[in-house]
Amino acid sequence: MIIVLKPHATKRQVDHLIERIKTLGLKPMVSRGTERTIIGVIGSEDALRVQPLEVIPGVEKVMPVLKPYKLVSREFKPESSVIDLGAGVRVGGKSVVVMAGPCSVENRAMLFETARLVKRSGATVLRGGAFKPRTSPYSFQGLGEEGLKLLRDAAKATKMRVVTELMDTRDIRLINQYADVIQIGARNMQNFELLKEVGQLRKPVLLKRGLSATINEFLLAAEYILSQGNFDVVLCERGIRTFEDQTRFTLDLNAIPVIKKLSHLPVVVDPSHGTGSWEYVEPMAKAAVAAGADGLMIEVHPNPEVALSDGPQSLLPKRFETLMREVKKVAAAVGRSVSKEAER
Ligand code: PEP
Ligand code: MN
Repeated sequence: MIIVLKPHATKRQVDHLIERIKTLGLKPMVSRGTERTIIGVIGSEDALRVQPLEVIPGVEKVMPVLKPYKLVSREFKPESSVIDLGAGVRVGGKSVVVMAGPCSVENRAMLFETARLVKRSGATVLRGGAFKPRTSPYSFQGLGEEGLKLLRDAAKATKMRVVTELMDTRDIRLINQYADVIQIGARNMQNFELLKEVGQLRKPVLLKRGLSATINEFLLAAEYILSQGNFDVVLCERGIRTFEDQTRFTLDLNAIPVIKKLSHLPVVVDPSHGTGSWEYVEPMAKAAVAAGADGLMIEVHPNPEVALSDGPQSLLPKRFETLMREVKKVAAAVGRSVSKEAER
């Protein structure tokens, strides 16, 4: 159920309404927009049949939410959300945010070199995995805390924000200590305990779409995080499994306009995992921005040949520089920009 308040509802009216909702044993989730306040009500709605809320002063209308997700829906929050990643980096506004870096943090030298070069080309968020979800248990699993420390240092040296993956609820404190944005990877999109845990934090979460998740399931996974009180969620389309085998995954660009219609949350696109091949990263990055993506996540490696993970899809820094030049043109054509410096 969603309760839309009148444009000039007073604070007293809103507080009174929240009290009433709580007394009915329901959980109010308040969204304060620029125009008006909307309250999402979580819990058994039977109580509302006995105690209609329409009669309470300040209430304009009470609407049932027909979709299975509520808090992520545009009905709940008509304006697009802008998620603050700190240091002036915001996802969901006019500027397209670029997150770039190696698939895995391998060592200090390669990380610092990559960070410096991607920053110079206009990326504002440094990506890199310290805990890696590898298909084979014999593949490189990541440097763990050592990798997190390196990420923090490289981000400090280059004035970037850090996004890195959390795979296990047991590592949440550790990762929270080093990351500015917590990534939930495709393979964990439906790890509901993990989603609930990051929902308890007050830190932005980058939620990647599952390999075979529908958009509905993707939005319901995000709902898990919002329902715990963390509204700072950025969605990431990273390709899905289809019958096509020329590319590693099929980057579902449809997801951008579809999610934008259904949800207020920003959408970032990862053409590196989406295609699995460096050659296709630039065209798909441009297509994503043209289709309305709020950001990009791109894998870059100073020497992809020797990368410990995802070398075939990693761009050389020089190619990343070209990609950025091209993406800026596309962004300008659709009325957006790619900020080099954090927006203040
Ligand atoms: C990654 O970004 O490093 C990653 C493992 O991505 P995904 O979860 O989308 O496979
Ligand atoms: Mn990777």
